[in-house]
Amino acid sequence: MQQPVELLRDRLEHAFAIHTNRLNELTLRGSMTDPTTFEARVEAARRGIANTAQALRRMSEGTYGRCEACGTTIAWQRLEAVPHARHCSDCR
Ligand SMILES: [Zn+2]
Repeated sequence: MQQPVELLRDRLEHAFAIHTNRLNELTLRGSMTDPTTFEARVEAARRGIANTAQALRRMSEGTYGRCEACGTTIAWQRLEAVPHARHCSDCR
């Protein structure tokens, strides 16, 4: 049975766009809240962009869904919950 990876690709692309918009907004508005909160938000957006971009790259390379630590196939339920997951539930 073929897994609907395309659904996850859509979700990842959507998440990537959201994180990118958020980072743009933060950068445009500058630090209006306290610097610690601002830095944390920028960092969260950057991490979100990196996570989703890496997952999309793994999809195009054909390594998506494989645990980077033990090489096992990551459970579908885990990928559905965390589409950018790089490790199986045992290795995370
Ligand atoms: Zn593993």
